[in-house]
Amino acid sequence: MIKPDAVENGHIGGILDKITSAGFKIVAMKYTQLSRRDAQAFYAIHKERPFFGELVEFMTRGPIVSAILEKDNAVEDFRALIGATNPADAAEGTIRKLFATSIAENAVHGSDSDENAAIESAFHFAGREIF
Ligand code: ATP
Ligand code: MG
Repeated sequence: MIKPDAVENGHIGGILDKITSAGFKIVAMKYTQLSRRDAQAFYAIHKERPFFGELVEFMTRGPIVSAILEKDNAVEDFRALIGATNPADAAEGTIRKLFATSIAENAVHGSDSDENAAIESAFHFAGREIF
């Protein structure tokens, strides 16, 4: 996902350019907005964390871009491309270093395993929307 902060700040094009330039193929993509229920379900793993309420508010406050990306070693390579959760710790040239503003508003989401990537793909897309 390209998160609401990055959409608000006009970074959709810049982020997609970094992603496709790094060799990822876009196999599904949409411009949409999460409901509270969507965001609570998507980030359910964090529901006991102190920042959960803030995370749901943030992720629902405006539109996002969701996409499924394909590449060899995609999960690991995408997390390297986006950089650390906190942009202050993110390496130079990473998407979060370039486009994020804080640990909460960090521009992009990436799946953390192939298993979760499959679950998250099914959350966002019907089979007929995946190419
Ligand atoms: P994501 O799952 O969105 O790709 P991540 O895997 O790098 O990010 P997680 O630990 O899964 O990081 O946290 C999920 C999201 O919750 C973060 O991307 C950020 O938006 C928010 N978040 C994480 N830690 C904090 C915090 N300490 N304060 C506020 N928000 C936070
Ligand atoms: Mg995560």
